Amino acid sequence: MKKIFLSIVFVAYTALALAQFSNYFDNKTLRVDYYRTGSKKSESIKLKSFIAKPGEWAGSTVHLTDPFNYGAHRVMVKDMETKKELYSRTYNSLYHEYIATKKGRKKSMTFEETVLIPYPKKAVEIHIQSRNKDWEFVSIETFQFDPNTTTTETIVSNNEVRKIHYSGDPQKKVDFVIVADGYSINDTAKMRADFETFRKGILKYAPFKTQKENINIWGVAAISEDSGITNPLKKQYLNTAVGSTFNSFDIDRYIMTFEIHTMHTAIQNAPYDHIIVMSNTDTYGGGAIYNFYADVTTGDQTQFVVTHEIGHLFGGLADEYVDPTVSYNDIHDLSKEPLEPNITTLVNFDSKWKHLIEEGTPIPTPVKKEFLKKVGAYEGGGYQSKGIYRPAIRCMMNAGGSFCPVCVEALNAMFKIYTE
Ligand SMILES: [Zn+2]
Repeated sequence: MKKIFLSIVFVAYTALALAQFSNYFDNKTLRVDYYRTGSKKSESIKLKSFIAKPGEWAGSTVHLTDPFNYGAHRVMVKDMETKKELYSRTYNSLYHEYIATKKGRKKSMTFEETVLIPYPKKAVEIHIQSRNKDWEFVSIETFQFDPNTTTTETIVSNNEVRKIHYSGDPQKKVDFVIVADGYSINDTAKMRADFETFRKGILKYAPFKTQKENINIWGVAAISEDSGITNPLKKQYLNTAVGSTFNSFDIDRYIMTFEIHTMHTAIQNAPYDHIIVMSNTDTYGGGAIYNFYADVTTGDQTQFVVTHEIGHLFGGLADEYVDPTVSYNDIHDLSKEPLEPNITTLVNFDSKWKHLIEEGTPIPTPVKKEFLKKVGAYEGGGYQSKGIYRPAIRCMMNAGGSFCPVCVEALNAMFKIYTE
């Protein structure tokens, strides 16, 4: 009886959510391109354009507001008339990475950003927000959009979209789009093989392996003028489809692109929730920003790197390692719980993974053989050696292996938002 009651409640909830979606949104996508300028001291936002993305809305029509809020920024759509919150998602950005660098503390820089929202039926306010000192979201800029009067651009891309792994309706699946970068017309056989390597990597480890029927993978066969990607330290500047480069923020193997608007145009014919740039170089490297994009190269370690980066991109997970080359000790505010689900300051451990700790496991947990397979709270994580604790001795978000139980739980919770 209880079960039946619960499922009736759930069906009613889903029906209500769907009604909310169709009251306020069309089954299409509005792409918002803008610039974010600033340093750690201050930031500002300037609108570039509204673009009608081809194809249907690929995101959830049920979970319209972000239940996790892992990101440093948030896009929030409000009904213009009633100010009711209709849609929100949080994300991180290149700007957010930049202001953590020495240069970014003082010197202002401009970055491209794009957000996708379901296409409003009525006039809305689109708030682009960042967290203040107390981590509350405040609006940096507000765009007004009225479907009857606001001008939208349409852009054409002739890039071919391939189904690399297909499970069904994009609205009920996590859609990864892989865009080829640095593949010239002579590299099409390698591109095909590399798409396959990425597919295997994405579906190799739990929970992606166990959730593979909840995943679609799309490949965008973008052709570049040059073969390979830009490497400023070698004075190699190449013309590629989405502009991936080594040495982002002066870290050699940190491979990213700053051409965010070009990237979204290159992939616009695919339905997507998450973007992975496939960079045609066998040199180890990559990077990822939560709900923004990941960039991964095609060498021997690709399958591990792509999985690790998806942990950041899709799961909002932190690195569980301490970086011996930088060994910062002031990255995290130790008076608060970090936003990421897989590191803790123990300030509010109940809100993290205390429920996964077996009785008798000491907190903090010493790194000893007897705890090798146990969930605990081991000191060192999020690049910082003191005051930050990670859940496991081994994890995909550390030096490799499978995801630890805490990461698996967080990733599975994220899957629900896309698939219910
Ligand atoms: Zn983990």
